Amino acid sequence: MNCNLTEIQQATRDTFAEFVQKRVMPQAASIDERAEFPMELFREVGTLGFFGMRYPETAGGTNMDIVSYCLAVMELAKGSLSLAAACTMQSLMATYFLYRLGGEEIKGHFRAALKGDEIGGICMTEPNAGSDLLNLQSKALVSDDGFVLNGQKTWVTSAPVADFFTVLAKTDKAEGISIFFVPARLEGVKIGKSIEKLGVRGSPTSEVSFDNVKLPKNYLLGNLGDGSKYLREVLAEIRIMTAALAVGVAAAAFEYALQYSKEREQFGRPIGQFQAVSMNLAEMAVQLETARHYTLYAASLSDAGHTQQKEAMIAKLYASECANAICDKASRVLASYGFAMDYPLQRYLRDARFTLIGGGTSEILKINLGKEYGL
Ligand SMILES: Cc1cc2nc3c(=O)[nH]c(=O)nc-3n(C[C@H](O)[C@H](O)[C@H](O)COP(=O)(O)OP(=O)(O)OC[C@H]3O[C@@H](n4cnc5c(N)ncnc54)[C@H](O)[C@@H]3O)c2cc1C
Repeated sequence: MNCNLTEIQQATRDTFAEFVQKRVMPQAASIDERAEFPMELFREVGTLGFFGMRYPETAGGTNMDIVSYCLAVMELAKGSLSLAAACTMQSLMATYFLYRLGGEEIKGHFRAALKGDEIGGICMTEPNAGSDLLNLQSKALVSDDGFVLNGQKTWVTSAPVADFFTVLAKTDKAEGISIFFVPARLEGVKIGKSIEKLGVRGSPTSEVSFDNVKLPKNYLLGNLGDGSKYLREVLAEIRIMTAALAVGVAAAAFEYALQYSKEREQFGRPIGQFQAVSMNLAEMAVQLETARHYTLYAASLSDAGHTQQKEAMIAKLYASECANAICDKASRVLASYGFAMDYPLQRYLRDARFTLIGGGTSEILKINLGKEYGL
């Protein structure tokens, strides 16, 4: 599927496809089993320039378009959604606000993160503020020399290995949310133990608490109270990226089931020759190709400077729902072997659930899409 890709886009896709084939696929099952951050592979992805793809060369990045970025994400997710989730977090949410709003000291951490030498996380979600993010309770009180941060965050991707966090909190001096840079080693920052998860187990997430953490003034990113505005700047890209994650895991499930249907024989012939099975695979192919093309279309709109929240939401909603439907159908093609831990389909099935949540749940996306249509 080339979808009128440029030579650079094709080369990017092929580079990541080759890397995934050689380095990620042989380790994907054990990344999932060990449920540990895949540090070595993460650093290798850094050397491929992935973390800087969406940043200009003047900032240490490689200034690639979103279509290229999505093609790389799809390949990584095809190999291991755990690795892809950790890497996309580093390349976008964990670093964007440092690049966009940070001063010289913070830009130093940003540049280290682009190489994979430092690891970042984003602390938005709280025990009582998930979809209702603006209702968060973390508070940074203004002091003489900066801020004092208190609060409890949860589900923070890469927290167990993080060097720094971008933290959303309210302050006593402004309405709305503000954004702070917080080094993980500061006194009062406590990282909880990893949450035991159903899927993306090799992308550890944990609670992070802030207990009277003293922050200098320059750790405020941007203006007090403007956090929601800054978040909206990257929302479409986060959703398109999550759609690309979903396409990647869906492609892995489809390709595995297709191959299996050609090899597994029952009643004297490959099961793919039974219409019930081939129709199942045809439906999966339609969903996969449609999700892939729509995701790249949404990405190409952004590349052309027409960032559209609507198309980004459609891409994320459609691709994540398709990925889960495809993994379910693929599991049926394998029957008992789709249920066996020694085969990869159970991992695809578990991992795909994550794409229904990250970047906004399907319900929240449907509600916001309704608003785009004036409902
Ligand atoms: C693997 C993983 C990694 C994550 N990484 C991070 C991270 O790095 N940083 C971070 O800050 N967060 C992270 N999150 C958290 C994620 O962003 C939240 O889980 C997500 O925003 C949903 O919040 P919630 O789980 O509290 O669900 P809730 O908001 O409690 O929703 C529960 C259910 O209610 C529905 N619902 C809620 N409100 C409405 C409404 N108004 N109308 C209709 N239905 C509604 C939802 O759709 C959902 O079905 C991660 C989550 C996962 C699973």
